[in-house]
Amino acid sequence: MTGDQLPKEIGTDRPSRSVSPYKAGIKSACPNCGEAPLFHNILEVHEACPGCGFDLSSADPGDGAQVFVILVLGGLCALLGFVLYGLVGMPIWALAVTLGVFALIGSVALLRIFKATLIALQFHHDARQGSTDDCEAKP
Ligand SMILES: [Zn+2]
Repeated sequence: MTGDQLPKEIGTDRPSRSVSPYKAGIKSACPNCGEAPLFHNILEVHEACPGCGFDLSSADPGDGAQVFVILVLGGLCALLGFVLYGLVGMPIWALAVTLGVFALIGSVALLRIFKATLIALQFHHDARQGSTDDCEAKP
């Protein structure tokens, strides 16, 4: 994922970024065009955007998306469990089934959004693996 394929912002060396990373993340869309789907199957990122051909092969959000999903969905499941058991009086077996289904569907849905947002933010900020070339002393 490099910015070589984009026009430069006026007066800077940075590539132009016309798509909001948050909008692209919520839509799970390509961070370059903001229209084409970022994923094929459920959570696999395309090698290249099917809409604009942008290279997505180096997009790597790491484990960051999973951490956010665990934190957000864990809190929501605990809250939902307290409400269903305490206020509604749902039996334990029904609570386990309900929370299990909620956690399964919610984790896939949130993983798509968080993973797409992290990839779009990497693209937006031109993040990449660091190297010793980045540490050269400037005259
Ligand atoms: Zn695209």
